[in-house]
Amino acid sequence: MIRILTTLLVLISQPAFAQLKPVKVTDNIYAIVGPLGNRGPGNLANNATFGVVITSDGLVLVDPGGTYHGAAQIDRTIRKFSDQPVRIVINSGGQDHRWIGNSYWIERGARIIASDAAVADQLDRESLQFTGLIALVGEFGLTGTEAMTATETFAKTMTLTLGDTTMTLSHIGAAHTPGDAFLWVPSESAVFTGDIVYTERLLTVSSVSNTVTWLQSFDAIAALEPEHLIPGHGNPTDLFTAFADTYDYLVNLRQQMAAHIEAGGDIIGAVKVDQSDFAYLQNFNQLAGRNAQAVFEAMEWE
Ligand SMILES: [Zn+2]
Repeated sequence: MIRILTTLLVLISQPAFAQLKPVKVTDNIYAIVGPLGNRGPGNLANNATFGVVITSDGLVLVDPGGTYHGAAQIDRTIRKFSDQPVRIVINSGGQDHRWIGNSYWIERGARIIASDAAVADQLDRESLQFTGLIALVGEFGLTGTEAMTATETFAKTMTLTLGDTTMTLSHIGAAHTPGDAFLWVPSESAVFTGDIVYTERLLTVSSVSNTVTWLQSFDAIAALEPEHLIPGHGNPTDLFTAFADTYDYLVNLRQQMAAHIEAGGDIIGAVKVDQSDFAYLQNFNQLAGRNAQAVFEAMEWE
């Protein structure tokens, strides 16, 4: 009886996890959509969009989850639409939810693939990311989490074939993070953009971002003319929405900041440049000023 009560108490005291939403994009492509806000004990650092390619010989998962338990949550979500094993996991960048869940999938025999630049960034920021995760997700959410980087890497492009499906991974340059890459699946006209595209919420520009090569990475995605676009944050979308929520935002911020710098403006005034056309995006109030400061600091040196 005591044991039952203790079990019940433990269950009640654990946070209720935010659901990951599986969204069918085509017969062979799914998005797994997480919450749009920040990391927290209730989302196991899975505050992002993940994706799955179904092939005749198993699954490709785009991004492993932000913690070990977060990876297990993605696995349970995948089981709602497929019973095939995950054979390959892509790390589309250097942010925590793009790689910290790797060990869960390595234990299950998956190959892990990332760009060289992503692995370098992950190793650079590993201890910083763990400090952040402990503060935001808590010790409980981090139990079992062990940082492991990719088992295979590439410099600029890699062609991948699994079963009857051929795909291409491309790293153009730094975008949201230094090693961002996108996965193109031509047979489905679908592209998994990682953090090169955010929709519905405001993107984040940080000190490791590069808005010049971010726009070039976006151009490379647009040149594919994909019918389906699975962003790094937000629901599956189209190129039109991706332009509106990501590309146009970056172009506006750079234009406003160039004028501000030209007029002799400083970093204090930088937070006030006009970004109001994008106030419809979630997290705008928390992030717009920080983004402006990061772009000011980068553009001072361009
Ligand atoms: Zn992200």
